[in-house]
Amino acid sequence: MIAAESGQCCPLLGDGAVIKVLDDYERTLAFAEVALGQIKSLRQTAIPRNYEIWYVYATGYNSPLNKIINETLARNGKLTEADLEQIYDTYLSQIKTTERIDKVGSRVIGEVDAVMTLISDALGMSASYDERLSSAAQKLSHAETRDQVKAIAESLMKSTIEMRETNKALQDRLSLSKTEISNLQQSLEAIRAESLTDPLTGLGNRKYFDRSIETAVQAALASGEPLSLLMFDIDHFKSFNDSYGHLTGDQVLRLVGMSLKQTIKGQDITARYGGEEFAVVLPNTALRQALTVADHIRRAVMAKELKKKSTGEILGRVTISVGVSMLKPDDDTDSLIERADACLYAAKRNGRNRVICEADPEYAAETQFQVA
Ligand code: GH3
Ligand code: MG
Ligand code: MG
Repeated sequence: MIAAESGQCCPLLGDGAVIKVLDDYERTLAFAEVALGQIKSLRQTAIPRNYEIWYVYATGYNSPLNKIINETLARNGKLTEADLEQIYDTYLSQIKTTERIDKVGSRVIGEVDAVMTLISDALGMSASYDERLSSAAQKLSHAETRDQVKAIAESLMKSTIEMRETNKALQDRLSLSKTEISNLQQSLEAIRAESLTDPLTGLGNRKYFDRSIETAVQAALASGEPLSLLMFDIDHFKSFNDSYGHLTGDQVLRLVGMSLKQTIKGQDITARYGGEEFAVVLPNTALRQALTVADHIRRAVMAKELKKKSTGEILGRVTISVGVSMLKPDDDTDSLIERADACLYAAKRNGRNRVICEADPEYAAETQFQVA
């Protein structure tokens, strides 16, 4: 059994500094073999849906899918037909997010209706039981013979048994509702997470970045804690794409994303800002520490030599240029981003594969140059 955890499985990553870029042929065949192996070992039907679930699992690119599979297997030791259907619908179905929201929305409405009906039935039952109890109490006060008392007691017992049965049915139905509601919560959470994730790298997307930086900047301005921003961009990536193809370029983007995840920990916010540009927000971090982090990322990326596994062809290394800015009291999010971006531009103009911050003379020269 493999356990590709979220974000930690990269089929391209070697242990050492040399990164092997597999051919699409070899790479996809390796995923296919893992997928079939899983289907066999868990004795599932080899239908396209199950194959797709395990294939995507093997790639490790859809971390919420891997997480839910690992959790379900750890809990139940297997995946039932219902689990597979739910996982497919939630994490793989190609229907658009808005349609999925509609689908989940109507399931929520359906479940709320069902629970409301249950509640009004239960209220009705309890009111009628209450009436029967009062009428029995009244009859008892006027009962004169042993047979009359016995008849009242029997009728009371019958009503009580009915009430107990109704309560039991209600409990069973409510427990079903509880499961359905927790499934719905999971579906909504998956849709939310997906809408904020970049599918290629598994990092946060631009929408995630915009939201997170705004919150972090407001918090830092309010508390007076330092906050820094790194923006970086792959050097000469166009010519890399032109030489080795867009698919290989995509793999390199994943690798850069992976290097970033491995370097950045804790509360820091990482995102793919756009094409081959990434951003990292570092709360509680002053410029000097931010420069250290930036240089770590730069070194981690350039440490990896890219090699085509099938042919042994060396594709070389990619490097990145990084711009770093630190929040000032009169800043807002836009001005912070603008300065990091200007630093990144200065890093490009001054030779690439370097980190420039707003305290560097290159940045000052850059801004003068822009004004002139
Ligand atoms: P510089 O060092 O100045 O940044 O040069 P560059 O070639 O990296 O910059 P430029 O902006 O000219 O080109 C960016 C290239 O990034 C264009 C495009 O080929 C590539 N790119 C952007 N998004 C993606 C993507 O999602 N996948 C792949 N494979 N390439 C991408
Ligand atoms: Mg670039
Ligand atoms: Mg760019």
